[in-house]
Amino acid sequence: MYDYIIIGAGITGITLCKLLREKGRNVICLEKEEEPGGLCRTKRIQGHTLDIGGGHFFHTKHQEVFDLVFKHIPKEEFNYYERVSKILLGDETIDYPIESNIWQLPMNEQIEYIISVICNGEQSGRPEPGNYEEWIRWKLGDKICDEYMIPYNTKLWGVEPKEMDIDWLHKIPRVNVREVLQYCLQRKQDVTKFPAHIHFYYPKKGGFQAIINALAKDELPYIKCGEKVESIVKNDDAWVINGKYQAGKVINTTPWCDLYEALGNPVELKSDFEKIRYNRIVVSLYEKHYDINWHWRYIPDKNKPYHREFYIGNFAQDSAKNGIYLETNIINHKEGNLKIDDRPAVAEYVTDAAYPVPVIGHADAIKRILDHYGPLGLYGVGRWGQHEYQNADVSVHEAMRFVESLDREG
Ligand SMILES: Cc1cc2nc3c(=O)[nH]c(=O)nc-3n(C[C@H](O)[C@H](O)[C@H](O)COP(=O)(O)OP(=O)(O)OC[C@H]3O[C@@H](n4cnc5c(N)ncnc54)[C@H](O)[C@@H]3O)c2cc1C
Repeated sequence: MYDYIIIGAGITGITLCKLLREKGRNVICLEKEEEPGGLCRTKRIQGHTLDIGGGHFFHTKHQEVFDLVFKHIPKEEFNYYERVSKILLGDETIDYPIESNIWQLPMNEQIEYIISVICNGEQSGRPEPGNYEEWIRWKLGDKICDEYMIPYNTKLWGVEPKEMDIDWLHKIPRVNVREVLQYCLQRKQDVTKFPAHIHFYYPKKGGFQAIINALAKDELPYIKCGEKVESIVKNDDAWVINGKYQAGKVINTTPWCDLYEALGNPVELKSDFEKIRYNRIVVSLYEKHYDINWHWRYIPDKNKPYHREFYIGNFAQDSAKNGIYLETNIINHKEGNLKIDDRPAVAEYVTDAAYPVPVIGHADAIKRILDHYGPLGLYGVGRWGQHEYQNADVSVHEAMRFVESLDREG
């Protein structure tokens, strides 16, 4: 009988395992794949260091996350980069974020963008709408939406923006008309207003998985790989997983929607489980010579199936200098249809659960699921357990917060 069973050995499950064991708890972590790491895994392919879950870079606003990671893998084993991320708009490549770099476009385009920003719904005093498409149009104006936000997000998420909620919008550009005008006139952005991390760490060797390897090193005896959770049953005094593992408490770090049957088809929550959706992303590796310094570029162009491209040689020191990989939603991906310079992919990986899709109603749905199971001793932590757009550092932080909350409960 365990104190805790953790479902999933991605970075959330590994962190939970480590912190609970440090508190003296008897823990096992069940992982369906043959190795831990989940989305943060890296493969070495023909001299390339490929993060198979897509582009992964480490930064955080939580000092305790830096402390945990750097305790297990010294800071000196990372390179520290100033982010060079770009956006392809028509034939022009400009710096990210768009709202600060409209001045890099040709003059007539700048004028169109500025007029559109000035005429946006918010500036015109129209009321705030409730779905993603109408909201970003209201906030950013038609031009940024039509040329960038709508096509990019439709490709990335694989659902129509009008089906999406607005509760994750801290991830979208903040448009301030005065600032847009100021940057255009001074032909320079103010990097102190950058909406995301301006720097990032990346391991010198082994790709993003170097972080997983370091965190998981002492946990391996407590991680059971090749053990897909298919049955979760609550008896009088214990949870029984797959008919053989028993624990007082269970922590789920995997998509809830995939556990519906395992939980015995709880019909009263059926519509909530149906709102817990994720998309699938294909990562395709190519070889091509490049002499630019970009780390990645966003591709809103509707004629290209992929939405982001990564220049591995510019951030992975141990990787061949001619590696590029593309991220494509599986809906837009047809095997073999993506080529660079007429060359097919060197390798392709499909991530089954990539992004938690914020369809309308998802936040209420996950709340009802967590409120239902929490009092019974089945919790959800991390990107999937909480069904939130969390980066790896946030998932680590949520695992820390969860373990701290147990201390408070005693
Ligand atoms: C394209 C992309 C780019 C990203 N870029 C960044 C970035 O730059 N920086 C950053 O910090 N984060 C980034 N992230 C987010 C980061 O990958 C996640 O926040 C983090 O990996 C979540 O870890 P997790 O352990 O919660 O989930 P996961 O890594 O998904 O782990 C869940 C684990 O559960 C296992 N599992 C699933 N079902 C079962 C089952 N039934 N039984 C047993 N095991 C099961 C899976 O195999 C997996 O190992 C990105 C994510 C994506 C998709």
